[in-house]
Amino acid sequence: MLEQHGENGSSEIDSIEEAGSGGSGSVSVVELKRVNKIRRDFVANVSHELKTPATSLKLLAESLVDVLGEDPEGARFFAEQLRDETERLAKLTTDLLDLTRLESEEGIQNPQPVDVRSILMVMLARHRPTARRKNISLSWKRSGRAATYTVRGDETQLTSMFSNLVENAVKYTPVGGRVEVTAESDESEVVVRVSDTGIGIPEKYLARIFERFYRVDKARSKETGGTGLGLSIVRHIAENHGGRVTVKSTPSEGSTFTVRLPRG
Ligand code: ADP
Repeated sequence: MLEQHGENGSSEIDSIEEAGSGGSGSVSVVELKRVNKIRRDFVANVSHELKTPATSLKLLAESLVDVLGEDPEGARFFAEQLRDETERLAKLTTDLLDLTRLESEEGIQNPQPVDVRSILMVMLARHRPTARRKNISLSWKRSGRAATYTVRGDETQLTSMFSNLVENAVKYTPVGGRVEVTAESDESEVVVRVSDTGIGIPEKYLARIFERFYRVDKARSKETGGTGLGLSIVRHIAENHGGRVTVKSTPSEGSTFTVRLPRG
């Protein structure tokens, strides 16, 4: 398995852009080379991430052809694997397109008032069947008046952000665990926490999990259909809304992701 190329998290790009505009308005050759290296690393990572499922699809299709007509059980097995791998490839391309769009936009185009509580309710209903299949309780708590949960932003992006966090919480929590979403607000912000009793994340990885393609356990992430882009998307959406996302986690006990959004 090829390792991740370089550190292509956007935090590094931010610091380069700041250095590049350092007063004089000129960008040095060294800085340009660094930016180019980050771009090359990103293209190398994307190519690798696309190559793996493409190779699997070819092998699975060949295996299916080999057993067709002779081994119906085997044929079914390879056909199902083909379907899963195709879904993974489709999710990867959708996530990549979403991320590229998010990174090229500054802030939100045409922000609208969005009620965070109703987004959370719809989103939780969407994840309930998957949680039920793993016997995971998915609950939610909120306090205060509905009117205080309005932020200005893009409803589709906000839904995608919370959906990514709940999907991860369910994915990385063993059978029989708990996932809880809590929402509260004060005069200035809406705070949403997604907590789970899952596998947790060792402290040394916490700073890296928001980078593109970074996974603590690559094999497990792939097994569960992960693309390694979800948290990167979450961070961009939170920041595009003037907010931020943070995480606290204890291995084998669970994780809490907290999103803070300014009230609209
Ligand atoms: P993936 O598609 O691999 O889930 P993400 O960007 O959503 O990618 O998350 C990056 C990595 O962070 C995951 O591969 C996993 O190692 C870790 N992670 C994310 N959410 C959780 C969670 N709730 N519990 C434990 N680990 C998590």
